[in-house]
Amino acid sequence: MKTIETPILVLTGAGISRESGVPTFRGADGLWKNYRAEELATPEAFARRPELVWEWYDWRRQAIAKCNPNAAHEVIVAIEDATGPGEFLLATQNVDGLHELAGSRNVRRLHGSIWHLRCVRCDHEELNRTVPLAPLPPPCPQCGSFLRPGVVWFGEGLDRVVLDAAFTAARTARTVLVIGTSSLVYPAAALPEIALESGAHVVEVNPEATPLSPYVAERLEGPAAELLPAWWREHAPTD
Ligand code: NAD
Ligand code: ZN
Repeated sequence: MKTIETPILVLTGAGISRESGVPTFRGADGLWKNYRAEELATPEAFARRPELVWEWYDWRRQAIAKCNPNAAHEVIVAIEDATGPGEFLLATQNVDGLHELAGSRNVRRLHGSIWHLRCVRCDHEELNRTVPLAPLPPPCPQCGSFLRPGVVWFGEGLDRVVLDAAFTAARTARTVLVIGTSSLVYPAAALPEIALESGAHVVEVNPEATPLSPYVAERLEGPAAELLPAWWREHAPTD
């Protein structure tokens, strides 16, 4: 690739899926039956009221099932297609699966996946796209205990292997795209910081300024589905 230096790291957050209609955690969108996401997406909430937490996830799954990848998800696939083996990694904070649906391959899901369920007691895990789910909470087919959503809740640690892959990519990347993330939630927010320290060219796509904004080389100030395709037309290899 001539115009963008590789390796490339792409980091995405809830903002990239906004134009696909995926409900976010903030503002009016984040409210469900008067509960805030922060009150439901925790291990404590699940231990106390698993049916309630599952009802919310089932509602989210139904909403997300109606959403399609948008032009920004598609540009990220085009960037991956234009790079060689080992030159591209996508680290996403999203749990919606839209990157995979668009065709992204080298994806690391920092916060897990709403489509993966795992048992709270045994080692059973499954990919399950059924909406709505019944009964709630879904029973484990292996041991009869509950399945939980395969997402990382507030207060839980991230998967070591996933995190290591993302940090390695941040240290070696020459170009980093940071799309639709508030850059407030760590450790994800540390990835562009590490890349900046290593001298990478960092591009931020976000209609709002974030704590990262003052340090980036380029800011695309607006919706990702609108601005990213234009940016890629300027930077895509022509031969
Ligand atoms: P966030 O903290 O990642 O912030 C979203 C950012 O997107 C904001 O800075 C906002 O200015 C920006 N934005 C809004 N519209 C945009 C657009 N059209 N193009 C580009 N940027 C845009 O997101 P959050 O909603 O506060 O979520 C926190 C965490 O909750 C996430 O990291 C994730 O784990 C989880 N979550 C996931 C999803 C999903 O899977 N789609 C949705 C909501 C929450
Ligand atoms: Zn089990």
